[in-house]
Amino acid sequence: MNIKELDKEYIAPTYARFPLCLVSGKGSRVIDDEGKEYIDLGTGIAVNGFGYSDEEWIGAVTEQLRKVQHTSNLYFSEPCARLAEQLCVRTGMKKVFFSNSGAEANECAIKAARKYGEINKGAEYTTIITLKDSFHGRTLTTLAATGQDVFHKDFLPLTDGFVYAEANNIESVKELAKENKCCAVMFEVVQGEGGVRPLTIEFLKALEAFAKEQDLLLIADEVQTGNGRTGKLYGYMNFDITPDIVSTAKGLGGGLPIGATMLGEKVQDVLGAGMHGSTFGGNPVCCAGALNVISRLTDELLEGVVERSNYIFSELNGAKGIKSVSGLGLMIGVETEKDASEVITTCRNKGVIVIKAKHKVRLLPALNIDMDDLKKAIKILKEACAE
Ligand SMILES: *Cc1c(COP(=O)(O)O)cnc(C)c1O
Repeated sequence: MNIKELDKEYIAPTYARFPLCLVSGKGSRVIDDEGKEYIDLGTGIAVNGFGYSDEEWIGAVTEQLRKVQHTSNLYFSEPCARLAEQLCVRTGMKKVFFSNSGAEANECAIKAARKYGEINKGAEYTTIITLKDSFHGRTLTTLAATGQDVFHKDFLPLTDGFVYAEANNIESVKELAKENKCCAVMFEVVQGEGGVRPLTIEFLKALEAFAKEQDLLLIADEVQTGNGRTGKLYGYMNFDITPDIVSTAKGLGGGLPIGATMLGEKVQDVLGAGMHGSTFGGNPVCCAGALNVISRLTDELLEGVVERSNYIFSELNGAKGIKSVSGLGLMIGVETEKDASEVITTCRNKGVIVIKAKHKVRLLPALNIDMDDLKKAIKILKEACAE
């Protein structure tokens, strides 16, 4: 059997895959099993922030791999401790819990928020306000946090304790806070899976002020918006707010699975010994990869993200066949006159990989994508939208 047949026979049918098997890559160029080359504007869903086969990252990862691949959390570990230090120094957060995915990073955030509510407000203060059209993960609890019925309906009953406010509507948040005993508000500063929709700075500033007044924790789900994607180290830094908890994953490990939950001053100690854990969490190889990624997210690199973003927005805004362009940094949603799937297929046939978010074409290029590659890819995307 060939790869596609093996997959169909043996892999649980939860994914509607593109008809593409990627086998190797360099930078933003990737090659499939038939030898065809593509410019990749998807980066494995905002994961491969420095593209494929990045020498510096490979060096950091293999150096650690040759020393020790895993120790468990029964012991101290240098890459894990150094990564936590870097994350805290760069964000002002106080402590970090490491896991293996975005959903797990959010699970930890939710546990910490509930514990904070119990300790500081009373045992019944467990409800978390999230936003409609949000996406927070696929575990039963993070599905419950996700404000989209389509994800809920097959798996009831979900974890209790989530209510959903309208995005960019502070009155909707206030109403829910009045009707429920709440401990936190959780949000993505740019809703990724929900259609690449940024929250407004007015909403986020009002949310921060309201949360402070009501002693609600602010949880920023930075799984997709984090690690340089929006042109700042973390997306919230574009909006002049200070969350109490920041969860992240996707781009953090540069391609290796790692999740991190950063805990601010108020919640740094609410999860005590034995209250949470993860066998693979803080894996030294993943942490070594993440340390390399974080160390390279310099002001200069982030300026490059903004430059590339400005280029994409200026090319696509008002172009033929394009209704709107949304997003922040290198997290961009393109609303097309043609069906998005059709545009995606045309691009792929012409050697450009783009992905989907709801009814939009979504672009998540490498943070350091070569300008010539980006220009070529955007030209092809424009043609696909216009023809
Ligand atoms: C992808 C994503 C998640 C889930 O991450 P996994 O690593 O797939 O568990 C959670 N929140 C947001 C905002 C995401 O984009």
